[in-house]
Amino acid sequence: MDSHELLRHADVAMYHAKQLGRNTFQFFTQAMNEEASQRLAREARIKVAHDRDEFINYYQPIVNSQTGKAVGVELLLRWQKDGSILAPSEFIVVAEEIGLIIPMTERAIERALADLKTWCAIRSDFYISINISALHFLKPGLRTYLAGLLERFQIPPEQLKLEVTETTLIKEPDRAIEKMRSLKSLGVSLSLDDFGTGYSSLMYLKRLPLDVIKIDRAFVSGIGSDEKDQAIVDATLVLAKSLGMQCVAEGVESEEQLNYLAQHKCYCIQGFIYSKPEPETQITQYLKDDKVEIKVQ
Ligand code: C2E
Ligand code: CA
Ligand code: CA
Repeated sequence: MDSHELLRHADVAMYHAKQLGRNTFQFFTQAMNEEASQRLAREARIKVAHDRDEFINYYQPIVNSQTGKAVGVELLLRWQKDGSILAPSEFIVVAEEIGLIIPMTERAIERALADLKTWCAIRSDFYISINISALHFLKPGLRTYLAGLLERFQIPPEQLKLEVTETTLIKEPDRAIEKMRSLKSLGVSLSLDDFGTGYSSLMYLKRLPLDVIKIDRAFVSGIGSDEKDQAIVDATLVLAKSLGMQCVAEGVESEEQLNYLAQHKCYCIQGFIYSKPEPETQITQYLKDDKVEIKVQ
């Protein structure tokens, strides 16, 4: 083994140690080496896919269950690869690790705002909700970037919602809160995604300038079958109401869940009961047809 190889092996072992939460050490093994080369290959595939513009926008309607009509959509990325459509679990984490998530999201937002222009011509107050990774959210310049885009596309800021998760708050909560305030002052709205699944931010919740709390599918799916999940859904709705925030329930699949949520005054619904994520053309058609979904009594 030459010194070059020794250093490379040490680097692989160091990466492993960091993955284990730092403050530890690891001896190099051949298995680590294989894992490292697989990781590099995966990263390379994702970079190439980005260069080739293989990431595309899908959108899932968010429906008001009282009117049965879609009020907006959530942007969900897909990877169009060799004729198949791959889910975000295949690329988002890696894209975040290598920082590619930022240019990837920027391209997606630009496509989404162009699509939103089409939709607003059919339903004027339609909105788009975009997932923003922690890295991106905390990056300086996000506000200026978004302000420039809203101006360029002539879209009112309230028709753009940004979804952040609790992980955005973990490292530097004060900085994240400051950032939220600055984005709010631009007029865009903020949603807390996957509420209840991550770091408990109850302490911060009252300080966060949030418009929407998204109740995670993990709890919604327990409605009717798991009393504890149901208790969490109830508590989230009460909490949101008392903090003056709206709730969107995610992953709603059954009429039982839909009705339960309506009885508890949660009418913003996202889930397969209404629609799976679809490409732009389908959403445009959906709006042109003025589709009315199942309504709550
Ligand atoms: P998420 O933000 O929580 O998005 C909701 C996920 O739940 C989507 O999965 C959606 O397809 C799925 N879903 C919605 N309704 C139902 C339902 O009724 N039943 C079931 N079984 N699933 C439902 P998807 O599209 O696979 O996205 C997974 C995650 O990937 C997202 O979770 C989000 O965290 C991430 N993601 C997707 N697009 C982006 C993006 O552009 N940027 C970032 N940073 N993350 C993204
Ligand atoms: Ca989301
Ligand atoms: Ca979510």
